[in-house]
Amino acid sequence: MFKCHACELHKLRRNIVLGVGKKSSKIMLIGEAPGKEEDAIGKPFVGPAGVVLDTLLAMANWCRDDVYITNVLKCRPPSNRDPNYDEMSACQPILMEQLGLIKPKLIVALGRIATSRMMDTNESIARLAGTVHRSKYGHEMFVTYHPAAGMYDRSKIASMVEDFEYFGRYYRAKYGGVT
Ligand code: URA
Repeated sequence: MFKCHACELHKLRRNIVLGVGKKSSKIMLIGEAPGKEEDAIGKPFVGPAGVVLDTLLAMANWCRDDVYITNVLKCRPPSNRDPNYDEMSACQPILMEQLGLIKPKLIVALGRIATSRMMDTNESIARLAGTVHRSKYGHEMFVTYHPAAGMYDRSKIASMVEDFEYFGRYYRAKYGGVT
């Protein structure tokens, strides 16, 4: 059983939420941090944001088993507040280990936290979406809104659908159908 006490969040967690999906996938999706349901079950995106994510994945012609899904933080921040700098730094070695093990060719950053963590940018998602970028570690990278953003602001849904359709098209043109 993996244990981590690198930051204070370990005192509040029920489960560490590492990652799920295809370990040989060329595609890694990175969210923000586990929520209530994820903390209870120990898997990423199993709550309401996960339902939105499944729908978006289908727009790219992918499903959960085609990709690897993880978060910047592996433990739930209290009341789902934003991760702080110390927590993200403490968690970074796990994300780096996952990047080393999965060796993704393409990263999809879900939301502002994953984007700024992977690209060292403060640009808005609105400005970054729609084109391919490079992560600070050299991966090809796409950026889109966090699935939960679509639940609170329906106007973002159309742009997220467009983003995922584009990810799928881009991926198939470059790598073919197999993830
Ligand atoms: N939001 C995230 O960023 N990650 C999850 O795993 C669930 C909700």
